[in-house]
Amino acid sequence: MDRPSRRDYFMAIADVVSSRATCDRARVGCVLVKEGRIIATGYNGSPPDMPHCDDVGHDMDDSHCVRTLHAEENALLQCALYGVSARGARAYVTTMPCYGCFKRLLGAGIKTVVYRDVYRSATPSDLSRIEELAGIGGVDVHRYQPSLRFKFVDSKVEEQGERS
Ligand SMILES: [Zn+2]
Ligand SMILES: [Zn+2]
Repeated sequence: MDRPSRRDYFMAIADVVSSRATCDRARVGCVLVKEGRIIATGYNGSPPDMPHCDDVGHDMDDSHCVRTLHAEENALLQCALYGVSARGARAYVTTMPCYGCFKRLLGAGIKTVVYRDVYRSATPSDLSRIEELAGIGGVDVHRYQPSLRFKFVDSKVEEQGERS
């Protein structure tokens, strides 16, 4: 039987993780993977015990909502809370990291970032900053392309189209 690729599998998990996000400006999920195993997950949401955007509205500053910790930050904080090193890990993120999160991922030793969507307010300078930093820091950044043969529905894998 065919199996989904690791990329498809981890990105599908990141997608499920994103469903717990609490700011509707973007719902983002992040899965950190080391040696093929998940070491942490994160979605964007308020720090513990703080109110959620979805309940009390956004906290806007210069056209950005600043209430939440981002998905990547929460995944790295989970590593910090439980004493797990992210060195050499891969990050699967449903939306391309912002420049701030990209710096944090790099600082935590992440070596590969796989993202699916581009955030609507990402600017060309965000993209070029990330590209430049990735080059200097030796981080591989890839845009995720789902394989055509699989579609995830209700946590099940359904095969699409013809077998090749
Ligand atoms: Zn918000
Ligand atoms: Zn971010």
